[in-house]
Amino acid sequence: MRNPLILLIIFVCILITGCTAIDDPQQQTEFGLVIHGGAGGITRDGFTPEQDAAYREALSVALQAGYDILKNGGSSLDAVEAAIRIMEDDSLFNAGRGAVFTSEGTNELDASIMDGSTLNAGAVAGVKRIKNPITLARLVMEESHHVMFAREGAEAFGEQHGIETVPEDYFFTERRWRTLQRIREREAASDNGGTVGAAALDKNGNLAAGTSTGGRSNKRFGRIGDSPVIGAGTYANNNTCAVSATGYGEYFIRLAVSFDISALMEYKGMALQEAADRVVMEKLPELGGHGGIIAIDRYGNIAMPFTTAGMHRGYVLDDGEIVVKLYGDE
Ligand code: ASP
Repeated sequence: MRNPLILLIIFVCILITGCTAIDDPQQQTEFGLVIHGGAGGITRDGFTPEQDAAYREALSVALQAGYDILKNGGSSLDAVEAAIRIMEDDSLFNAGRGAVFTSEGTNELDASIMDGSTLNAGAVAGVKRIKNPITLARLVMEESHHVMFAREGAEAFGEQHGIETVPEDYFFTERRWRTLQRIREREAASDNGGTVGAAALDKNGNLAAGTSTGGRSNKRFGRIGDSPVIGAGTYANNNTCAVSATGYGEYFIRLAVSFDISALMEYKGMALQEAADRVVMEKLPELGGHGGIIAIDRYGNIAMPFTTAGMHRGYVLDDGEIVVKLYGDE
């Protein structure tokens, strides 16, 4: 040990290990929230100024609600649920009220939520009468021994716990109905934008993520996408990051996109942006899929990569400045 060369080698090794540590260990923010309102072929010229303003307003309101919770010391789970509920209640988004239609002309909603501090998770799939599927997913996580409930069983569980139900026609919106008719005429599946998701870091260093969707327009009834699948559409782990995905769900399931981002950080020591880019910008298109994710890590770093023309998204950190980006805007 007295040999200066050995000491130098040890010193260099420590330096290298430090440099390749899991991510940038500099705390960016005490708390933060990042959300999305769906990825897809959304470009500025497809929106009127009124629609543009409406999306900005809706995303800002969701971010503000989550910010208020986090600033007051509330949990990342509460912030995620609150932000998503607001978007579920807004018919602009393909989640809750504005859910797209299945090929049968019905609405079947999926949602999931995950607590990064315990790895507890809850999910619901194919529900037709639940006003806020994200809240039912949270009930599954907190009030059952299971992770995922589907269809009538999910609804019955929710009703036992006093969840708000609505008649099926609550989800009928003219805009989504017209989309289904257009797709039927073209006999092609497209236009699915509007899934919502959120990921948050709270003052206690806990991460959480959630996702809610009506799925894909004209999907076969009974089809379940990635949004309620833990590790595909949603994942959170206090050691790495919290992720919510949107896009062509089948590919996100096959690649376990959200978990894969976390795993690259955990096992390969990648930083959040690097891990998210590797999965979303390389592995996803290599398989033929498309979409995007939003994520936040334990230091408050944020990543929002997407391969589609656009992804509605936004974030707020502890300085309270609300940032909203629509379409493919940088
Ligand atoms: N990922 C959702 C699904 O496949 C749809 C979307 O995000 O647009 O059900």
